[in-house]
Amino acid sequence: MRPLALIWMALGLAACTIPTSSNTESTASESPAAPETAVASPTPFEFSGPEKELARSRYQLDIDFDYAAQVLSVWEQIDYINSSDGVLSELLLVVEADWQGATFELRDAVWGDGTAIETVARETSALLIPLKAPLGAGDSLRLALHFDLELAQKPGILGYTTRQSNFADWYPFVPPRDETSWILHGPGPAGEHLVYESADFEVLLRVHNAPEELVVAAPAPAEVIRGGTRYVLTGARRFAWSASADYTVLESEASGVTLAAYVFPEHLEAGQASLSVSRAALELYEGLFGEYPYESLAIVEADFPDGMESDGLFWLYRGFFDDFEGAQNYLTSLSAHEVAHNWWFGAVGNDPALEPWLDEALALYSERLYYEALYPEQVDAWWEFRILRFSPTGAVDSNIYAHTGFASYVQAAYFRGALFLDALRQKMGDVAFFSFLRDYFEAGRGEIVNADVFFALLGEYELVGLDDIVGEYFAER
Ligand SMILES: [Zn+2]
Repeated sequence: MRPLALIWMALGLAACTIPTSSNTESTASESPAAPETAVASPTPFEFSGPEKELARSRYQLDIDFDYAAQVLSVWEQIDYINSSDGVLSELLLVVEADWQGATFELRDAVWGDGTAIETVARETSALLIPLKAPLGAGDSLRLALHFDLELAQKPGILGYTTRQSNFADWYPFVPPRDETSWILHGPGPAGEHLVYESADFEVLLRVHNAPEELVVAAPAPAEVIRGGTRYVLTGARRFAWSASADYTVLESEASGVTLAAYVFPEHLEAGQASLSVSRAALELYEGLFGEYPYESLAIVEADFPDGMESDGLFWLYRGFFDDFEGAQNYLTSLSAHEVAHNWWFGAVGNDPALEPWLDEALALYSERLYYEALYPEQVDAWWEFRILRFSPTGAVDSNIYAHTGFASYVQAAYFRGALFLDALRQKMGDVAFFSFLRDYFEAGRGEIVNADVFFALLGEYELVGLDDIVGEYFAER
């Protein structure tokens, strides 16, 4: 195949919030010994599956994972549906690896008719591909990319440590659009910055040069085929996974959903506790909000601080597994929190850079609902432990760039956000409040919502005094 013409230039992505500060320096990589065998890539690429009648965009990812080298070689087939109202002349793909210190190298790119994509412009955190013909609203196109991704040795959701390899946002994906441009933000001082359309994922993973004990934690049931393992995840924001030779797997089941905790051997008892919390939380939220959106849920002990949600999988810091006595601890509250993100992030999407409270306040308030249902006598203690002792300040509707660091961001979007939701509930009464949450889930499922949608739905309840509550917590509503 003809080599790609990579155009290295400033793209002038005016609508994008791409910070100019350099935070893309990769951590010095201490790669283990070279792999025993080179990993061959399948070429020429054979497209698979029907091109039409997709409910949403589809990503098919065929991975060769060289564990010893911590390198993925991937063929990615994208069936993209233009869900915007406008006509597209180019396609933007997000390359988050650039912000995470990983090395992304595009090797090949082809259109669905098998012809080479000759021009791909490369910018920090993005690829821009001019289209051969305009793509109208609702129309679809097919292309495939072949790329290598080398992880940096650093703790985090895209990186490896001596204990695990983590893969979130490891493949290029097409972000949503607003009226005029692609929605692509750069990292802020805290919080998440990527916005995702809901999409379908089919992943085929082959692992090479790995110890026999290697275990893969994935967000969907595994099916062994063609010398690899296949996963299908539908209606999801992203496909994240993790691999470690250190995981012990603990399993459970709730409402037909398979739950599995992937924990380090020193934390089996705590892993069981997190699994139990997750199971109870999943059942509770199904009753309160609506159906759990996926077939399985993986709880992954993380070799990096805090927690991170993804569809059908979340990471939770190993430090939280050290202390789980009783119910007032971060293992319990954050397990309940991360499970809730499958509703408030996974099913109902939002822009976490500009309106982080939409998913975070709801996930935090869902913790409270968990305690209310499971440990009603401890709800007050939970408020104090989780929120009130920090005397939170800040506008609920501040974006991630408005903060200087994690503490003020969490106080505003999470803590004040949860206090706002509680004030709202007091004003509405339980029947109307939970009816509203179900309305919001139904309206937002598979969509990307914003505060206008939240308040428009709320407006249907004709609350007297809503303005006072909003005025107390929000800066610009
Ligand atoms: Zn959260």
